[in-house]
Amino acid sequence: MAQRMPVSDSGNKKPSRVRVAVRLRPYMTQQDDKDEGSCVRGLDSQNLEIVNWRNATESVKYHFDVFHGEQTTQQEVFRSSVKPILPHILNGQNASVFAYGPTGAGKTHTMLGSPEQPGVIPRAVREVFNLVKAKEEDEGWDYSIGMSYLEIYNEKVLDLLSPGSQDLPIREDKDKNILIPGLTHTTISSFSDFDKHFIPASLNRTTASTKLNQRSSRSHAILLIKVVRTQRALTQRQQTGKLYLVDLAGSEDNRRTGNQGIRLKESGAINLSLFTLSKVVDSLNSGTAIRIPYRDSKLTRLLQDSLGGSAHSVMITNIAPEYKYYFDTFSALNFAAKSKLIVNKPFTRETVAVPVPPVKRAREDREARGSGTE
Ligand code: ADP
Ligand code: MG
Repeated sequence: MAQRMPVSDSGNKKPSRVRVAVRLRPYMTQQDDKDEGSCVRGLDSQNLEIVNWRNATESVKYHFDVFHGEQTTQQEVFRSSVKPILPHILNGQNASVFAYGPTGAGKTHTMLGSPEQPGVIPRAVREVFNLVKAKEEDEGWDYSIGMSYLEIYNEKVLDLLSPGSQDLPIREDKDKNILIPGLTHTTISSFSDFDKHFIPASLNRTTASTKLNQRSSRSHAILLIKVVRTQRALTQRQQTGKLYLVDLAGSEDNRRTGNQGIRLKESGAINLSLFTLSKVVDSLNSGTAIRIPYRDSKLTRLLQDSLGGSAHSVMITNIAPEYKYYFDTFSALNFAAKSKLIVNKPFTRETVAVPVPPVKRAREDREARGSGTE
């Protein structure tokens, strides 16, 4: 019967929402010269509160699809926010996972992690291989997994698997699939095969970034995992599912634009793709926009077939608890949450107790006893 099935039959369905999770990283003493403690605190698995700088007798409460507190492990973040969407890419559907937030708040930790604490990327790739393996045994489809890895920097699309490549164009085919002609796409046969290509490419990016004036905080690193399945029957039906895993540029640039309807001035200083992504997510989630402005930036254009529509998307907004991040945190939260509640109650300090280092505690004890050394 049918040869090439459309990727989904949801042509006239409402575009799907982007699920929003917030992850608070642990408090770090070295990020807090003034020793002020945390200005933000989790309340439960969906709510958090932050000090209201305008009025110290109030705190501001936010509600999200998921709130991951500072104790949340890499595995829990993966299990609750990412794992559930992965089966869809084996059925020819698209998905995207973003890490959003100011530089220093934990985006790279969340997406990439470290060898001891692997993040979303290695866990998702492993899981895709596991899912394919489980499926291959009992169904009449052959699966092939491939990867591309690219960066959007200054509205240029650069191939990270082919260093030194030029800005690449983004195109749309007649079925409305987005593609980048010329982008390296490598078939991978196992997780270690993935690592072999991915690790040198991410190292390249990190070294380049320290030389190029914090490039990594201004560029979007985008990993694409593509699963193509072909039916063994005579019809050879084929379906392609794409998963985008994105470590976004630091959202601190956003703050300079304000957040409501302020025009893009100083275009050099503002990250157009990040700014447009926030408008796209906003349009998708408010459900009122007639036109979703995908075409206004490279990032959103590239993700057009994998963000909203019939795709499954999750945004993990990373925030830091120290006061020096306060305004960046506030703007990241305001972008992520469309509603907030001002609570008429001061942000109580004592419950954010951070373990006091032994040396300091000893000094404080001495002071309390009035037996200072002077
Ligand atoms: P970003 O990519 O947003 O600039 P990073 O991921 O580099 O931020 O995080 C900044 C620092 O905080 C790094 O040293 C990182 O290891 C640490 N960090 C971030 N999130 C966590 C976390 N959840 N648990 C422990 N350390 C974290
Ligand atoms: Mg980073």
